[in-house]
Amino acid sequence: MVRESIVTPEEQPSEEHDIALRPKRIADMVGQREVIEVLQIAIDAARKRDEPLGHILFDGPPGLGKTTFATCIPREMGVSVQMASGPALKAPKDIVPYLTNLEDRSVLFIDEIHRLPKAVEEYLYTAMEDFRIDIVLGEGVSARTLNLQLKPFTLIGATTRAGMLSGPMRDRFQIREHLGFYSLQELTEILNRNAEKLDVEVEPIAASELSRRARGTPRVANNRLLWARDYALSKVDGIVTDQVAQDAMQMIGIDELGLDRQDRRYLSTLIRVFSGGPAGIEAIAHTMNVSADTLVDEVEPFLLRSELMIRSSRGRCATPLAFQHLKLDIPSTALSGGGLFDQIPDA
Ligand code: ADP
Repeated sequence: MVRESIVTPEEQPSEEHDIALRPKRIADMVGQREVIEVLQIAIDAARKRDEPLGHILFDGPPGLGKTTFATCIPREMGVSVQMASGPALKAPKDIVPYLTNLEDRSVLFIDEIHRLPKAVEEYLYTAMEDFRIDIVLGEGVSARTLNLQLKPFTLIGATTRAGMLSGPMRDRFQIREHLGFYSLQELTEILNRNAEKLDVEVEPIAASELSRRARGTPRVANNRLLWARDYALSKVDGIVTDQVAQDAMQMIGIDELGLDRQDRRYLSTLIRVFSGGPAGIEAIAHTMNVSADTLVDEVEPFLLRSELMIRSSRGRCATPLAFQHLKLDIPSTALSGGGLFDQIPDA
């Protein structure tokens, strides 16, 4: 089956906007107060000791601020940062230039660190622990190993799948922080600040309307704002009113809960074709003509979080909230114990 990309145009990562809207200092970041408090103490102590910060691991879903923290922390420390990505580091030799270019107390950021190949991960162990690496010079019988001392540095790792990180790697991070979703109030604040940065007028009701559809995620809030701005510029006078925000969202199929067309298609397939479940993921995927991986990775997490479906050992089930949201009647068989409320997870 063709693996279908279900990223809507307005959700495509826009790197320049990410950079333009990204807070420069920790003080400019909204929310994540507990994480920020821990980091501020660690930064303060490292500065006083004149030592590098301990290695830091951030985990959490995409768009919640992992890269933002990784760029703000070096600024607070007054040191440089190099950015790398797990899947691009295919062999130990790929990471050597990053390690040899490190400056005293500088930061090496590795995004998607759970996707580092095992050999690279193991190569990093001595670098992280003792600030040294072995480099093999030459080949065959004339090969020699050079033991190289590195500058003391801080590794910042980011992962969307903390569970996929090996135990030994995880244990080498002194600070491990989980980034959670943002409240409506926090998202509205981010949206208002960014509207100012972009010099676009967004009415207060429109700002909360857009935040409500941002799935608890600052990157999504930014994308909603950028689309509403473009829509307002093209269709009206450039001001994002409540009506403009609603029309802009409707045009790209984003509803009041932040669901996109694919999310609703999933729920309506589950309800219409499978009477609300339980249904197996493969069966749902075949019916929708989408790969099961796509559904599991990209559609289900938000539906589960929104309590619109549950995943039990017997299959996927729509919750009463899903019926309500799609304005569909709950079948009477379900109400009499034949389906919907027979869905309590076994595990
Ligand atoms: P991640 O690395 O977790 O995928 P990013 O750090 O790239 O996410 O965040 C995406 C965008 O969201 C950033 O460019 C920034 O504009 C915004 N953002 C993230 N976290 C915050 C925050 N705490 N306060 C304000 N804006 C934020």
